[in-house]
Amino acid sequence: MNKQINKVKLAITTKCNLNCDYCFVKKTNQDMDFATAKNAIDLLLESERKDKLLSVYGGEPLLNFKLIEKICPYAITRAEDLRKNLIISVCTNGTLLEKKHLDFFEKYDIRLIISLVGEKSDHDEFRSFKKQSGSYEKILEKLPMVFKKIPPEHLGVSFCLFPSTIERMEENFDHLMKLGFNYINFEIIHHYQDWTKEAQEKFHLGLNKIIKFVIDNIPKEDFIFLNPINWEIKYQKISQSLGLECPFWYKLEIYPLGEMAFSPFLLNAPNREKHLIGNVNQGLSQKFKECQYSPKDVRCKKCQFSYFPSENTDKGAERIYELYRTICLKAAKEIKNQALENKLYTRYIKKIKEEVCF
Ligand code: SF4
Repeated sequence: MNKQINKVKLAITTKCNLNCDYCFVKKTNQDMDFATAKNAIDLLLESERKDKLLSVYGGEPLLNFKLIEKICPYAITRAEDLRKNLIISVCTNGTLLEKKHLDFFEKYDIRLIISLVGEKSDHDEFRSFKKQSGSYEKILEKLPMVFKKIPPEHLGVSFCLFPSTIERMEENFDHLMKLGFNYINFEIIHHYQDWTKEAQEKFHLGLNKIIKFVIDNIPKEDFIFLNPINWEIKYQKISQSLGLECPFWYKLEIYPLGEMAFSPFLLNAPNREKHLIGNVNQGLSQKFKECQYSPKDVRCKKCQFSYFPSENTDKGAERIYELYRTICLKAAKEIKNQALENKLYTRYIKKIKEEVCF
């Protein structure tokens, strides 16, 4: 393999027990098999660089838990043999969590991410069961068991943000803190509602306030972690993405039958064939087989631009991502500067590098 792959997102099933209106995943009832997952894991671990992230999702990945039980021990042993630092995360809607899942995650040090919108009314509006009843209460039932089993640094929230909830962004963030989470990843929902100028402005203001709160709490030893800041501090991920980047580094998605692409959205688009870059069981398509990253190579310079079609771009959401990256980059720099004078900021950074970044 002539590409560097730092992260693979493995969609191990397209099944889901929820029926969220905004979800773009086509529920084709396909489960990934072990041979396919094994090829994907080998591809990740055998590529150059030491730090590797395997992100398991779906659909709802717990509906293919038997595969999780097989791939985790395999990936961990393989990473040890190849002397790679591997982190495995599982992103779930949280409604199916049982003790046996948590025992397994605890045993193998798996990071758990639960998707939430915030307060009950907002959550239930967007994340519901097939009969239109909200999933909030079901998740709330599970949380005491989750907090008991999974250490806080291995537990995160995928905080779903919509234009229509942006007004309550801070309240919803605060609610997640009150539930007991201190590790948040913002999931900006695109191609659903319109990210108008007004919504963009509200996001800008809300995120700045949240980041101020996070930074002000560090000297109080109340550590809250936001994923893009973690990623910047540990891997310089945002600064890298401002320059030229190879989509194989962080964007590789692998679907149940082994289909590979750089976007889960395009993998579910009506013209998905156009966006496939190969199959993990058969290899990369001709276009991507031989290219090798070089910032001077014309193909690399045009690569992302030509892959992501402008007709499929949600321009408002793109603007939100841009704000998100810029604000988090600034915050990461501020934290690093503060660390020159205050040991608690140094501890915060150390914790990110050694424990919480996933
Ligand atoms: S052409 Fe694209 S996929 Fe190939 S190495 Fe360059 S950036 Fe990566």
